[in-house]
Amino acid sequence: MKAHDGMYIDGAWRPAAGRDVIEVVNPADEQVIGRVPAGTAADVDTAVRAARTALPGWAATPPADRAARLAALRDVLVARKDEIAETVTAELGSPLKFSEGVHAGVPIAVSGSYAELAATCSFEEKAGNSTVYLEPIGVVGAITPWNYPLHQIVAKVAPALAAGCTVVLKPAEDTPLVAQLFAEAVHEAGLPAGVFNLVTGRGPVAGQALAEHPGVDLVSFTGSTAVGRQIGAVAGAAVKKVALELGGKSANVILPSADLAKAVNVGVANVMSNSGQTCSAWTRMLVHRDQYDEAVELAAAAAAKYGERIGPVVSAKQQARVLGYIEKGVAEGARLVAGGTEPPRERGYFVSPTVFADVTPEMTIAQEEIFGPVLSILKYEDEEDALRIANGTVYGLAGAVWAGDEAEAVAFARRMDTGQVDINGGRFNPLAPFGGYKQSGVGRELGSHGLTEYLQTKSLQF
Ligand code: NAP
Ligand code: MG
Repeated sequence: MKAHDGMYIDGAWRPAAGRDVIEVVNPADEQVIGRVPAGTAADVDTAVRAARTALPGWAATPPADRAARLAALRDVLVARKDEIAETVTAELGSPLKFSEGVHAGVPIAVSGSYAELAATCSFEEKAGNSTVYLEPIGVVGAITPWNYPLHQIVAKVAPALAAGCTVVLKPAEDTPLVAQLFAEAVHEAGLPAGVFNLVTGRGPVAGQALAEHPGVDLVSFTGSTAVGRQIGAVAGAAVKKVALELGGKSANVILPSADLAKAVNVGVANVMSNSGQTCSAWTRMLVHRDQYDEAVELAAAAAAKYGERIGPVVSAKQQARVLGYIEKGVAEGARLVAGGTEPPRERGYFVSPTVFADVTPEMTIAQEEIFGPVLSILKYEDEEDALRIANGTVYGLAGAVWAGDEAEAVAFARRMDTGQVDINGGRFNPLAPFGGYKQSGVGRELGSHGLTEYLQTKSLQF
C-alpha cells in the first residue's frame, strides 16, 4: 500500500500541522518502505475536537446501526486481508503465513465479535427499583504498540465504537502503515466523519499530547510498563479513566504428570512465534527437577528448528535490547543451550532463537520482559515451589499449565496470580477477557468485558 502523507481526521485525509515525517523500515532488509507524517499536539487537538463533535450523534445512534457499521468494517477487513498481511509483514517483519492467520485473521474475528455484541447487548439493566443505563464514556484516546499492530488497534477501536464512543488513535511509529490501512477501512465501511480519527506520530510528542488532552475521557494504552506508568499518572491527575495493557513474564508450568514432549514443543513455539514479541508469551518454562535435563534437550532441539523460519524483530533498537538481555543471561550464569548473540543473518534485525537453562528465579532473564525469541527454563522441586516461582514476578498477564489430568491443571491455574491460563494447550479465544493482574495492567480487553471498559453507568430510581 502507498503511505498517506496526511492524517485521517473528521472523515478525510488532511495535511499534518507540521512537516516532520517518520520513515517506515522493513526490518527484514532494512529498506525504507514508506513515510508518514509525525503528528504534533496541534494534530492531536484537531482530531480530539473532531471526535468530540461527532460524539453526541454516534452515542445516540441505535446500537443495531452501530453494529451494522462494525459488520461492514469487518467485511472490509475480510476483503483486504491479503493487503493487511502484506503490510504487517513489510513493516513488522513477521512471516507472511503468520501475518495472514494472526495479524489479519484475529482482527477480523474481533471486529466480528463486536458487531455481534453491539447488536445483542441491551445497554440497560434492572437492579431493584433502578434502571441502570450503560452509556458511552466519551472520547477515547487509543495508544497502541507495534507487536500485533492491527489486533491492538481493533481490540480498542471495535469495542469503543460498539459502546458509542468516538476515537483518536496514535499507533506505534514502527507500524503506522497498517493503521493507515485501517483508517481507509473505517472510511469504506461508512462510519460517520469524526467517529474514528488517526494521528500518526511519536510517543513522547503525539502520544503524550493525546494522553494529556482534556477533551479525552478515557486513555486506553497498550505497551511497556514504563510508559504505562506515566500515562496512568497523567490520567490519574486529570481524574480521567485509564486502561493499561502492559508487559508480561508468563510461566509455562509443566507438572510431572504432563506429556513432557508436547508441553515443551508447544511452549517453545509459543515463545518463538512473532519472534518472541508477544506480551502474553510463556517466556519462563518451569520443569520438575526429575524431568529437567530431558526438557532442556527437547527445548534446545525445538528452538534449533526455528532458525530458518523465524522473522526479524521490529527494529535495530529492539534487536540491541534483546541481545543485551542475552548477554546479561550469560553474565549472570545461565547456560546457553540454543541461539545466542551471533546474528543469524548479515542483513535485517534477526535474533537467533535462544534457550537458556539453569535459570534461577532472581536472574534478570527470569524477571524482565525481553520481547524477543528468548526462553528461560527454570527448575522446581515440588508443586509449592513451582507456584512460588510462577507467581514470583511483578507481572501477571498469562500462563500455561500442563498435567495428565485436566482437574489437576485447573487446580494449579486457580492459584496463579495471572489474568489468563491455557490448560494443556487450550487455544486463543477472542471472546475471553484479556488483561493483567499486578503490574501487567489495569482493565480488560476483548469480549463483553472489553465492551464494559468503554461504558459508564447511570442509575434511575423509580
Ligand atoms: P512503548 O514505548 O511503550 O510504546 C507503546 C506505544 O506508546 C507506542 O505507540 C509509543 O509510541 C507510545 N508512547 C511512547 N512513549 C509515550 C509517551 N511518553 N506518552 C504517550 N505515548 C507514548 O513500547 P516500545 O518502546 O515500542 O517497546 C519497548 C518495550 O515495551 C518492549 O521491548 C516490550 O518489552 C514492551 N512492549 C510491550 C507491549 C505489550 O503488548 N505489552 C507492546 C510493545 C512493547 P512510539 O511508537 O512512537 O514509541
Ligand atoms: Mg517507544
